[in-house]
Amino acid sequence: VLSVRNLVKRYAGQPVLSGIDLDVAEHEVVVLIGASGSGKSTLLRCVNLLEELDDGQVFLDGVDISDPRVDADVARRAMGVVFQAFNLFPHLSVVDNVTLAPRVVHGVSRELAEARALELLDRVGLANRARSYPDRLSGGQQQRVAIVRALAYDPRLLLFDEITSALDPELVGEVLALVRELAGQGRTILMATHEMGFARQVADRVCFLDGGVLVESGPPEQVLGDPVHERTRQFLRRII
Ligand code: ATP
Ligand code: MG
Repeated sequence: VLSVRNLVKRYAGQPVLSGIDLDVAEHEVVVLIGASGSGKSTLLRCVNLLEELDDGQVFLDGVDISDPRVDADVARRAMGVVFQAFNLFPHLSVVDNVTLAPRVVHGVSRELAEARALELLDRVGLANRARSYPDRLSGGQQQRVAIVRALAYDPRLLLFDEITSALDPELVGEVLALVRELAGQGRTILMATHEMGFARQVADRVCFLDGGVLVESGPPEQVLGDPVHERTRQFLRRII
Protein backbone atom coordinates (compact mmCIF):
# COMPACT_ATOMS: atom_id res chain seq x y z
CA VAL A 1 0.00 0.00 0.00
CA LEU A 2 2.71 2.46 1.07
CA SER A 3 6.34 2.78 0.01
CA VAL A 4 8.62 5.49 1.28
CA ARG A 5 11.90 5.83 -0.60
CA ASN A 6 14.96 7.73 0.57
CA LEU A 7 12.84 10.30 2.35
CA VAL A 8 14.80 13.33 3.50
CA LYS A 9 13.32 16.17 5.51
CA ARG A 10 15.19 19.13 6.92
CA TYR A 11 14.11 21.99 9.11
CA ALA A 12 16.28 25.10 8.69
CA GLY A 13 18.96 22.99 7.07
CA GLN A 14 19.03 20.47 9.91
CA PRO A 15 18.16 16.92 8.83
CA VAL A 16 15.19 15.54 10.74
CA LEU A 17 14.69 12.50 8.49
CA SER A 18 17.74 11.09 6.73
CA GLY A 19 16.93 8.74 3.89
CA ILE A 20 14.01 6.75 5.28
CA ASP A 21 12.96 3.61 3.37
CA LEU A 22 9.76 2.06 4.63
CA ASP A 23 7.08 -0.21 3.19
CA VAL A 24 3.68 -0.98 4.58
CA ALA A 25 1.91 -3.89 2.93
CA GLU A 26 -1.84 -4.37 2.72
CA HIS A 27 -3.35 -5.46 6.08
CA GLU A 28 -0.08 -4.75 7.83
CA VAL A 29 0.22 -2.90 11.15
CA VAL A 30 3.54 -1.07 11.37
CA VAL A 31 4.49 0.70 14.60
CA LEU A 32 7.06 3.49 14.78
CA ILE A 33 8.97 3.79 18.03
CA GLY A 34 11.78 6.07 19.07
CA ALA A 35 12.69 8.81 21.51
CA SER A 36 11.03 12.20 21.51
CA GLY A 37 12.38 14.18 18.56
CA SER A 38 13.47 11.10 16.60
CA GLY A 39 11.18 12.06 13.70
CA LYS A 40 8.11 9.83 14.07
CA SER A 41 5.58 12.64 13.68
CA THR A 42 7.54 14.23 10.87
CA LEU A 43 7.56 10.92 8.99
CA LEU A 44 3.78 10.56 9.38
CA ARG A 45 3.29 14.17 8.30
CA CYS A 46 5.47 13.64 5.23
CA VAL A 47 3.50 10.51 4.29
CA ASN A 48 0.30 12.55 4.58
CA LEU A 49 1.91 15.32 2.48
CA LEU A 50 1.52 17.85 5.28
CA GLU A 51 5.23 18.59 4.87
CA GLU A 52 7.24 19.20 1.76
CA LEU A 53 9.91 16.58 1.20
CA ASP A 54 13.50 17.65 0.64
CA ASP A 55 14.28 14.44 -1.18
CA GLY A 56 12.80 11.03 -1.86
CA GLN A 57 9.37 9.74 -2.77
CA VAL A 58 6.17 8.53 -1.17
CA PHE A 59 4.24 5.93 -3.17
CA LEU A 60 0.64 5.06 -2.41
CA ASP A 61 -0.55 2.00 -4.29
CA GLY A 62 2.32 2.51 -6.69
CA VAL A 63 1.56 6.15 -7.43
CA ASP A 64 4.22 8.70 -6.54
CA ILE A 65 2.07 11.06 -4.48
CA SER A 66 5.07 13.25 -3.66
CA ASP A 67 5.24 14.23 -7.32
CA PRO A 68 4.18 17.88 -7.40
CA ARG A 69 1.93 17.15 -10.36
CA VAL A 70 -0.21 14.86 -8.20
CA ASP A 71 -3.15 16.47 -6.42
CA ALA A 72 -2.18 16.23 -2.75
CA ASP A 73 -5.79 16.52 -1.60
CA VAL A 74 -6.81 13.51 -3.63
CA ALA A 75 -3.89 11.50 -2.24
CA ARG A 76 -4.68 12.62 1.31
CA ARG A 77 -8.24 11.38 1.03
CA ALA A 78 -6.93 7.86 0.71
CA MET A 79 -5.50 8.19 4.20
CA GLY A 80 -7.25 8.52 7.54
CA VAL A 81 -5.25 10.49 10.08
CA VAL A 82 -5.59 10.82 13.83
CA PHE A 83 -3.22 12.90 15.96
CA GLN A 84 -2.46 13.02 19.63
CA ALA A 85 -5.19 15.45 20.62
CA PHE A 86 -7.53 18.19 19.47
CA ASN A 87 -8.78 16.11 16.60
CA LEU A 88 -12.43 17.07 16.68
CA PHE A 89 -14.09 20.32 15.67
CA PRO A 90 -15.43 21.64 18.98
CA HIS A 91 -18.35 23.50 17.40
CA LEU A 92 -19.70 20.42 15.63
CA SER A 93 -21.61 17.51 17.13
CA VAL A 94 -20.12 14.03 17.00
CA VAL A 95 -22.15 13.02 13.98
CA ASP A 96 -21.34 16.28 12.16
CA ASN A 97 -17.64 15.76 12.89
CA VAL A 98 -17.83 12.33 11.31
CA THR A 99 -19.92 13.34 8.29
CA LEU A 100 -18.26 16.64 7.44
CA ALA A 101 -15.63 15.30 5.05
CA PRO A 102 -17.85 12.74 3.30
CA ARG A 103 -20.49 15.42 2.73
CA VAL A 104 -18.34 18.41 1.87
CA VAL A 105 -15.39 16.75 0.16
CA HIS A 106 -17.02 13.69 -1.34
CA GLY A 107 -20.48 15.08 -1.98
CA VAL A 108 -22.22 12.26 -0.12
CA SER A 109 -25.79 13.13 0.86
CA ARG A 110 -26.47 13.96 4.49
CA GLU A 111 -28.75 10.93 4.90
CA LEU A 112 -26.25 8.50 3.53
CA ALA A 113 -23.32 10.04 5.42
CA GLU A 114 -25.27 10.01 8.70
CA ALA A 115 -26.43 6.44 8.25
CA ARG A 116 -22.86 5.34 7.72
CA ALA A 117 -21.62 7.49 10.63
CA LEU A 118 -24.24 6.07 13.01
CA GLU A 119 -23.33 2.54 12.00
CA LEU A 120 -19.64 3.21 12.65
CA LEU A 121 -20.38 4.99 15.95
CA ASP A 122 -22.54 2.07 16.98
CA ARG A 123 -19.66 -0.30 16.39
CA VAL A 124 -17.49 1.66 18.81
CA GLY A 125 -20.30 1.96 21.36
CA LEU A 126 -20.93 5.66 20.81
CA ALA A 127 -24.17 5.76 18.83
CA ASN A 128 -25.93 7.31 21.81
CA ARG A 129 -23.45 10.22 21.81
CA ALA A 130 -23.98 11.13 18.16
CA ARG A 131 -25.65 14.45 18.99
CA SER A 132 -23.23 15.36 21.78
CA TYR A 133 -20.51 17.96 21.41
CA PRO A 134 -16.86 16.94 21.87
CA ASP A 135 -16.47 18.77 25.19
CA ARG A 136 -19.12 16.46 26.67
CA LEU A 137 -17.08 13.36 25.88
CA SER A 138 -14.15 11.84 27.73
CA GLY A 139 -10.75 12.01 26.02
CA GLY A 140 -11.02 8.32 25.16
CA GLN A 141 -14.45 8.79 23.62
CA GLN A 142 -13.17 11.79 21.64
CA GLN A 143 -10.32 9.75 20.22
CA ARG A 144 -12.69 6.93 19.29
CA VAL A 145 -14.83 9.47 17.43
CA ALA A 146 -11.69 10.80 15.73
CA ILE A 147 -10.85 7.26 14.61
CA VAL A 148 -14.41 6.76 13.35
CA ARG A 149 -14.09 10.01 11.43
CA ALA A 150 -10.84 8.78 9.88
CA LEU A 151 -12.71 5.63 8.78
CA ALA A 152 -15.65 7.50 7.35
CA TYR A 153 -14.41 7.41 3.79
CA ASP A 154 -12.84 4.00 3.92
CA PRO A 155 -9.17 4.98 3.63
CA ARG A 156 -6.50 2.71 2.20
CA LEU A 157 -4.14 3.60 5.00
CA LEU A 158 -4.61 4.77 8.58
CA LEU A 159 -1.98 7.04 10.14
CA PHE A 160 -2.10 7.32 13.93
CA ASP A 161 0.31 9.61 15.77
CA GLU A 162 0.47 8.96 19.52
CA ILE A 163 -3.28 8.80 19.71
CA THR A 164 -3.27 7.72 23.35
CA SER A 165 -0.50 9.87 24.78
CA ALA A 166 -2.76 12.77 25.81
CA LEU A 167 -5.18 10.43 27.60
CA ASP A 168 -5.52 9.55 31.24
CA PRO A 169 -4.15 6.04 31.78
CA GLU A 170 -7.58 4.50 32.39
CA LEU A 171 -8.78 5.75 28.98
CA VAL A 172 -5.84 4.43 26.97
CA GLY A 173 -7.18 0.88 26.92
CA GLU A 174 -10.46 1.66 25.19
CA VAL A 175 -8.71 3.47 22.34
CA LEU A 176 -6.08 0.76 21.91
CA ALA A 177 -8.87 -1.85 21.92
CA LEU A 178 -10.40 -0.08 18.95
CA VAL A 179 -7.07 -0.01 17.11
CA ARG A 180 -6.65 -3.71 17.85
CA GLU A 181 -10.10 -4.35 16.40
CA LEU A 182 -9.23 -2.40 13.24
CA ALA A 183 -6.04 -4.42 12.93
CA GLY A 184 -8.11 -7.59 13.29
CA GLN A 185 -10.36 -6.41 10.47
CA GLY A 186 -7.33 -6.21 8.20
CA ARG A 187 -6.93 -2.44 8.10
CA THR A 188 -3.55 -1.15 7.01
CA ILE A 189 -2.08 0.97 9.78
CA LEU A 190 1.09 3.01 10.28
CA MET A 191 1.25 4.40 13.80
CA ALA A 192 3.65 6.03 16.23
CA THR A 193 3.24 5.02 19.84
CA HIS A 194 5.00 4.87 23.17
CA GLU A 195 2.86 1.90 24.21
CA MET A 196 5.41 -0.88 23.92
CA GLY A 197 3.09 -3.56 25.29
CA PHE A 198 0.59 -2.70 22.60
CA ALA A 199 3.29 -2.66 19.91
CA ARG A 200 4.39 -6.11 21.01
CA GLN A 201 0.88 -7.53 20.82
CA VAL A 202 -0.56 -5.85 17.75
CA ALA A 203 2.28 -4.81 15.43
CA ASP A 204 3.28 -6.97 12.52
CA ARG A 205 6.45 -4.90 12.35
CA VAL A 206 8.16 -2.41 14.63
CA CYS A 207 10.44 0.31 13.25
CA PHE A 208 12.89 2.06 15.54
CA LEU A 209 13.81 5.63 14.60
CA ASP A 210 16.76 7.41 16.13
CA GLY A 211 17.80 10.91 15.11
CA GLY A 212 15.87 10.70 11.87
CA VAL A 213 17.40 7.37 10.88
CA LEU A 214 15.44 4.14 10.62
CA VAL A 215 17.86 2.05 12.64
CA GLU A 216 16.04 -1.23 12.88
CA SER A 217 12.84 -2.80 11.63
CA GLY A 218 11.37 -6.24 12.15
CA PRO A 219 8.81 -8.34 14.00
CA PRO A 220 8.08 -7.04 17.50
CA GLU A 221 9.61 -10.07 19.21
CA GLN A 222 12.86 -9.33 17.49
CA VAL A 223 13.06 -5.51 17.66
CA LEU A 224 11.66 -5.26 21.19
CA GLY A 225 12.91 -8.58 22.52
CA ASP A 226 16.27 -9.11 20.89
CA PRO A 227 17.34 -5.97 19.03
CA VAL A 228 20.34 -6.11 16.74
CA HIS A 229 21.47 -2.51 17.22
CA GLU A 230 22.99 -1.04 20.33
CA ARG A 231 20.97 2.17 19.86
CA THR A 232 17.73 0.17 19.97
CA ARG A 233 18.89 -1.63 23.11
CA GLN A 234 19.76 1.66 24.80
CA PHE A 235 16.35 3.10 23.92
CA LEU A 236 14.50 0.07 25.25
CA ARG A 237 16.57 0.04 28.44
CA ARG A 238 15.67 3.67 29.05
CA ILE A 239 11.93 3.25 28.66
CA ILE A 240 11.36 -0.06 30.45
P1 ATP B 1 7.70 12.88 19.97
O1 ATP B 1 7.89 11.49 20.48
O2 ATP B 1 8.05 13.89 21.02
O3 ATP B 1 6.36 13.12 19.37
P2 ATP B 1 8.80 12.71 17.30
O4 ATP B 1 9.60 11.47 17.12
O5 ATP B 1 7.42 12.71 16.78
O6 ATP B 1 8.82 13.11 18.84
P3 ATP B 1 9.18 14.96 15.55
O7 ATP B 1 8.04 15.75 16.07
O8 ATP B 1 9.01 14.31 14.24
O9 ATP B 1 9.64 13.87 16.63
O10 ATP B 1 10.42 15.93 15.51
C1 ATP B 1 11.65 15.57 14.92
C2 ATP B 1 12.59 16.76 14.97
O11 ATP B 1 12.11 17.77 14.10
C3 ATP B 1 12.72 17.40 16.34
O12 ATP B 1 14.06 17.73 16.54
C4 ATP B 1 11.87 18.64 16.23
O13 ATP B 1 12.36 19.63 17.07
C5 ATP B 1 12.00 19.00 14.78
N1 ATP B 1 10.80 19.68 14.25
C6 ATP B 1 9.56 19.13 14.16
N2 ATP B 1 8.69 19.98 13.58
C7 ATP B 1 9.40 21.10 13.30
C8 ATP B 1 9.08 22.36 12.69
N3 ATP B 1 7.85 22.63 12.24
N4 ATP B 1 10.06 23.26 12.57
C9 ATP B 1 11.32 23.00 13.00
N5 ATP B 1 11.69 21.85 13.57
C10 ATP B 1 10.75 20.90 13.72
MG1 MG C 1 5.58 13.01 17.65
